[in-house]
Amino acid sequence: MIKTVGIIGAGASGMMAAISARNHGAEVMLFEHNDRVGKKILSTGNGRCNFTNIDQKPEYYRSDNPGFANAVLSQFSVSDTISFFLKLGVYSKNKNGYLYPNSEQASSVLDVLRFELERLQISIYTNTVITSVCKTKKGFQLQTPQKTFSCDSLILAAGSKAAPVTGSDGSGYDIAKSFGHHFVPVLPALVQLKCSEKFYKNLAGVRTHGTVSLYADDTFLAADTGELQLTKYGISGIPVFQISRFASRALYEKKTVTAEIDFMPDFNDHAFTAFLDARIQSRPDKTLSTFFIGLFPSKVADTWISLSRIDRNKKVGELSDDEFDRLIRLIKHFRTDVTDTNGFASAQICCGGIATEEINSKTMESALVEQLYFSGEIIDVDGICGGYNLQWAWSSGYVAGKEAAVC
Ligand SMILES: Cc1cc2nc3c(=O)[nH]c(=O)nc-3n(C[C@H](O)[C@H](O)[C@H](O)COP(=O)(O)OP(=O)(O)OC[C@H]3O[C@@H](n4cnc5c(N)ncnc54)[C@H](O)[C@@H]3O)c2cc1C
Repeated sequence: MIKTVGIIGAGASGMMAAISARNHGAEVMLFEHNDRVGKKILSTGNGRCNFTNIDQKPEYYRSDNPGFANAVLSQFSVSDTISFFLKLGVYSKNKNGYLYPNSEQASSVLDVLRFELERLQISIYTNTVITSVCKTKKGFQLQTPQKTFSCDSLILAAGSKAAPVTGSDGSGYDIAKSFGHHFVPVLPALVQLKCSEKFYKNLAGVRTHGTVSLYADDTFLAADTGELQLTKYGISGIPVFQISRFASRALYEKKTVTAEIDFMPDFNDHAFTAFLDARIQSRPDKTLSTFFIGLFPSKVADTWISLSRIDRNKKVGELSDDEFDRLIRLIKHFRTDVTDTNGFASAQICCGGIATEEINSKTMESALVEQLYFSGEIIDVDGICGGYNLQWAWSSGYVAGKEAAVC
C-alpha cells in the first residue's frame, strides 16, 4: 500500500522530508502558509547560504538532551548532505570548513530543492494555513479555513518563532501541544545581547577582536572568540551569537547574567601586563588619551579611560600601580551586565522546542502519537552558527521523511 505523507511547513527540513518521503515511495502533500516555499533559506548566510560545515562535533548541537542530535545526524551526515546537493546541482565552495553553494547564492539551494520537488511530482499547497490537526483511525485530518486534507502520517516541520517575517510564526508549536507534547522553553538564540550600561551609545559601530565569556549568578556558562560588534544597546557579532542561547535561558530563569570581554585574548594577563608595561617604558611621556592609539579602537579606549577615572592628560609613565591594574582589568576583564536579548524578530534561530524525550531519535516519530513525526527547528535542538542549523534541518528532515514513508 502506498502511504500518504502530509508535511506542515515547506522550509529547509520540510522540503528535505518531502523529497526523502517521496524517494522512499510515499505520496507527499507539502503544506506552506507562505505564498512560496523555503523563504528563510534566502536569508541564510547573508544571502549565500552556509548549508553545512565539514567540522562536526556533538557539542555544536545544543539541547536539554545532548545525545539526541547526534543520533539523528549520524543517519544523514555532512557527506550525505554534500552528495545530495551535488546530485541536485549544487557544487560546494569550502571556506575553512563552512560550505556554501559555489554560486554563493542562497537562491541556488532553494532553486534546486524546488526543482526536485517538481521533478518528484510532490503536491505543494502554498497559501495554505493548517489551523488544526486531529488524529483519526486511519491517520490524520488537517484543517485549513477552506478544506480538510487527510494523510496516513504527518511530519510537523513548521520551524520556530525566529525571524517570523519568513513564515515561522510559532503556530507549529500549538499543533504539537494539541497532541500533548511538552516543551523546553522556546527563546531567541543566535541573537544580540542587550546590556544596561549607558556608555554603549558612544560605542555603537565599533568592531574589534575579543573573547566574550558569559556568567549567570557568577557561574561560568560559555565563551567564544572572534569579531565583536558593539552597538548602541549592547554587544553583537558571531562570538556573542554563539553564547546567546545560554544568556537567553539564564535570563528566562531570572538569573543575573554578566558578560566579561577580553579585548586582548591573544595574551594572557601576565603577558599583557608585561606588554603594556614595555609600551609605557618606550614612550612614558605619552598622555593616557593618546597611549592606546594604534592598539585599540579609540571609542573603546576612551570608555576605559572614563571608567578608570584616571585623568586622561596624565603621562603614562606617571601612572600608579593601582591605576595601571585598573586599566589591565578593564581591557582583559571588562564586565558588562546583560539585561535581555533582542527578540525573535532579530534572532536567527530559537533554542528550546519540543522535548526530545518524546521523540524517537532513530525515526523522528512522536513517542506519544503513532505516525506523527517532527523535523527541524521545532525540536529542542539548536546548532551553533556555521551551517549547523541547516545540517540539522537536512538530517532530521531526511530521517522523518524516510520513516514516515516506510513505517
Ligand atoms: C537571517 C538568518 C540567517 C541564517 N543563516 C544560516 C546559515 O547560514 N546556516 C545555517 O545552518 N542556518 C542558518 N539559519 C538558520 C536556518 O535557516 C534554520 O535553522 C532553518 O531554516 C530551519 O529550518 P526549518 O525547516 O526547521 O524551519 P523554517 O525554515 O522556518 O521552515 C518552516 C516553514 O513552515 C511554515 N509554517 C509554519 N507554520 C505553518 C503552518 N501552521 N501551516 C503551514 N506552514 C507553516 C513557515 O512559513 C516556514 O516556511 C539562519 C536563519 C536566519 C533567520
